[in-house]
Amino acid sequence: FLKRRWNPLAFEISEAQIEKIVEQVLRSLPDASAPAAQWDATGYGGRKFIGIFESMEAAIEATAAGYKALREMTVEQREKIITEIRRLTRAEAETMARLGVAETGMGRVEHKTAKHLLVADKTPGTEDIVSEARTGDHGLTLVEMAPFGLVGSITPSTNPSETVLCNSIGMVAAGNGVVFNPHPHAIATSNYAVDLVNRASKAAGGPEILVCSVAKPTMETAKVMQTHPAIKLLVCTGGPGVVRAVLSSGKKAIGAGAGNPPVIVDDTADIRKAAKDIIDGCTFDNNLPCIAEKEVFAFQNIADELIHYMRQNGAYLMSAEQADALAQIVLVDQEDKKTGKMRRVINRKCVGRDADVLLSMIGVKADKEIRCLICETDFGHPFVQEELMMPILPIVRVGDIDEAIDLAVKAEHGNRHTAHMHSKNVDHLSRFAKAVETTIFVKNAPSYAGIGFGGEGHTTFTIAGPTGEGITSARSYTRKRRCVMADSFRII
Ligand code: NAD
Repeated sequence: FLKRRWNPLAFEISEAQIEKIVEQVLRSLPDASAPAAQWDATGYGGRKFIGIFESMEAAIEATAAGYKALREMTVEQREKIITEIRRLTRAEAETMARLGVAETGMGRVEHKTAKHLLVADKTPGTEDIVSEARTGDHGLTLVEMAPFGLVGSITPSTNPSETVLCNSIGMVAAGNGVVFNPHPHAIATSNYAVDLVNRASKAAGGPEILVCSVAKPTMETAKVMQTHPAIKLLVCTGGPGVVRAVLSSGKKAIGAGAGNPPVIVDDTADIRKAAKDIIDGCTFDNNLPCIAEKEVFAFQNIADELIHYMRQNGAYLMSAEQADALAQIVLVDQEDKKTGKMRRVINRKCVGRDADVLLSMIGVKADKEIRCLICETDFGHPFVQEELMMPILPIVRVGDIDEAIDLAVKAEHGNRHTAHMHSKNVDHLSRFAKAVETTIFVKNAPSYAGIGFGGEGHTTFTIAGPTGEGITSARSYTRKRRCVMADSFRII
């Protein structure tokens, strides 16, 4: 079975049949997460959102006015606005979590709530902006972290309000104005967060409109943002397509792109803990976070034990046939616009769904306690190769650390995003960290420890691997300016 290779032609099932199965399953779901109030891209529960515009041009103009007002304010006043953003984010975390799940059909309310609390508690504010001073025979030189001005931010559907709030705190702490072009599939949730920031600003004595967005974000509105002369910095959080687009815009850009985080488990690890940590990380918000465990490379001699403990932690072990049948549904054919060739891509309707819902798509009934679908596959299986963002976890057996590192590095596809390892062998840990070169490397913990959830350090929802800012914070959204006083102002 282990030698069996992935064969996409093994199942004769048409695209139309797949579509029908997915629709049937999704229609049968109870709407447990529905928010209490009516909502759309411009309002929630009868409250009209502040800072949402019909055109990107109007949104940029309003952001410029907000930025001008912010420039007049002291750092202390900026911090008051941020304190109020934190307070409202805590108070409305569950509302935004429910709205996010209801609007996108992805993720879990309890985990999205936790992500909002993480943003409120661990996103750095103005304390992240630190000036440098150098003194010497020739006087004093100051280096200050100045705002860029207007920032254009493109945000994803997977952490919609979390990214808008985390970006807003960091960008406003740095003194910038921000205009968002959110993901169209998460527009109400994203614009809820834009409105929250504006409510916080007003309550804390700031401008009524501090950050802005549009009611109908499209590729066109993104283009207006990318080419508008008033926008001085682009920050993009999303898949490879959008990161490529902003990096070729001709403007300074911060790109936070896709990942496909591998996990290695060697035979020195605490296997029971590794199994629990991996399932906890992989299933967090149904695997939507870009840092979440996506495929496991387990030493042959501990693989059975690892699978045993994973099953004790809510994993369902699929047979090879079940895994291949599910692959037919969660991956679909799509024409590559550039080459004109067909290629397998993830079925967006399956992204972020509960494990039991995915299982029911291949006719297997499971209860809600099942939170992850595991299976043994070979390295070439699409579950290993594709960034699924679903609670599906393939396990590949490896003979030794050389094979484990070789395959894990290949599966990461050079994204240099995130990787994980469970081991007590310091040499193994160091070798993998060096070889994989990721922005985040988590040892012996669930993936979310890498963004400050049960691990040290601040949080971010914009992990900028391609452009090198890493775990972004307020200082990432600044430009350095030098001020020189020659031959004076030295007191020694
Ligand atoms: P996506 O790439 O579909 O969309 C991201 C944003 O880009 C959306 O607002 C979308 O409308 C816009 N967009 C897409 N193509 C564009 C183009 N050519 N020009 C302008 N705008 C464009 O992403 P998604 O499905 O919402 O999010 C999932 C992806 O994002 C995954 O690949 C995940 O790994 C990645 N992600 C990365 C991070 C990070 O911090 N590195 C964080 C979250 C998500």
